[in-house]
Order: sequence, then structure tokens, then C-alpha cells
Amino acid sequence: MGESTGIGWTDHTLNFWWGCHKVSRECKYCYISSMMKRAGLDPFGGPIRTKNWHQAYRWNRQNERVGRRTRVFTCSMSDFFHPGADEWRADAWNVVANCQHLDWLILTKRPDRISQCLPADWSTGYPNVWLGVTAGKKTSLKRIDSLVNIPAAVKFVSAEPLLESLDLRPYLSSIDWVITGCEQARKGARKVMDIEWVREIDSQCRAAGVAHFFKQYYVEDSGTPCTDGMLDGVCRQEWPVTSCNLSSNSASQGGPG
Ligand code: SF4
Repeated sequence: MGESTGIGWTDHTLNFWWGCHKVSRECKYCYISSMMKRAGLDPFGGPIRTKNWHQAYRWNRQNERVGRRTRVFTCSMSDFFHPGADEWRADAWNVVANCQHLDWLILTKRPDRISQCLPADWSTGYPNVWLGVTAGKKTSLKRIDSLVNIPAAVKFVSAEPLLESLDLRPYLSSIDWVITGCEQARKGARKVMDIEWVREIDSQCRAAGVAHFFKQYYVEDSGTPCTDGMLDGVCRQEWPVTSCNLSSNSASQGGPG
């Protein structure tokens, strides 16, 4: 599927395939199986290839015309490195490589599979691909270890859902961007994120000069998350500076501030 998105850190989402299997505690309230059920698809059958990849070319042409870049969150309805998608991934990489006016954000919980799934011409990384891992709890930090050894234009960590206090300092010299945010699952399903955990990560990022994007939080026990990125009166929604966004008049702004 390809669509515009309400996710604060991306402009579009494009799903080369739909469907996944849970791999960790962060997956507990993943919305994918219920969305697949509603769409009449087997939620446990693994990824299904989608058909509307051409939207990427349309976004790319528009960007080229007006001289800007936009971000595409890749596989919000799956995991780009899911083994059930191995046979289609080369085609997906081909789209990514041919859409150089888009920045592709690939976030995974399967970083141990990244190396074997990269295209042959990856070299030091495609300039328009950002690779990230989810780490919202201490036992997931090992995913960052896998990521830091892989060449990429931008490496990022999504600490969402942020389930406990985290010390990211050992990793930040190799990471360009950190996202934090509470879980957007059923109200009260898990302990609401403690804002102090976000302060800690913000301060770690500031000390290391790493961009921090605070995506969402709940006020008290309200059912709708706030997405303004405000932390102690200051908006903390920053982007990494990349070779691509340095050389364009991109919508991407700032950097560690
Ligand atoms: S890895 Fe991601 S997409 Fe797959 S079940 Fe877990 S949260 Fe959902």
C-alpha cells in the first residue's frame, strides 16, 4: 500500500508487502493482524506482496519537479526484512534505487537479517536509505549492536513504544537519529510512558549531538496521544542532517539543536 500518513516523522508510507509475525514484547499490540483480518486477509499467513508500488515513482517525479525530498516509511504493515518477503525484496530495492528524490526509512526488528538482505551494489549504503531498529526496552538494545556494524547513510533507533528507562549512550557515537514515543495501543493496555524516560534520552542525545524526534505522549490518562513533540516547553522534533538533505531545499530541517 502507498499512502500519506499521520506519522510525524514521515511524509508517506509504502508497503511493498503486508503481514508479519510477532518477534518481541514491543510487538504485543501491533495493529497489523487486526488490520489484515478486517481486510479479509490471513493475519498469520506471513507477508503478501502488494500491487501499488508505482506510487513511489509518482512521489519521486513530483519531488524532482519542485526540487525537494520527502520521506517514505517503508513497510509500516510488515517488516522489510521478514524472511517471508525474500523473493520480492530485490524488486523493492530496485524501486528504492530508482527513486533518488525520496528518502526511504526502513525500520526493523530483525536486524540480524539486514546484511544478508542488502543489494549487491549497497557498498557503503544507498544515500537515500535510512536504516533503523526498534529498541523500546533494555533487552532490545542488542538490536542496535547489529545495526551499528552495517554501513548506511543514516542509522536510527526507534524507542517506540518506550517501555522503560534506557541508556543509549554506548551507541550514540554510531547513531544519527533517535525517535521516542509512547505506545498508541488500547488505552491502559500497558503502563503509560514515563516522561522522565524521554528526558533521559533527550539529554543523552543532546550530549552526543544526535537528533531526537519526540513523536508522541499521553497527557495523564487521556485516550489520544499528543504529537507536538513538546518536552518541558521546547519542541524536540529534530532530523538528522544527511548528504541528501544538505544538498536540497528539503522539508527536512535542523539537526541536533
Ligand atoms: S515486527 Fe513490527 S510489524 Fe512485525 S509484528 Fe512486530 S511490530 Fe508488528
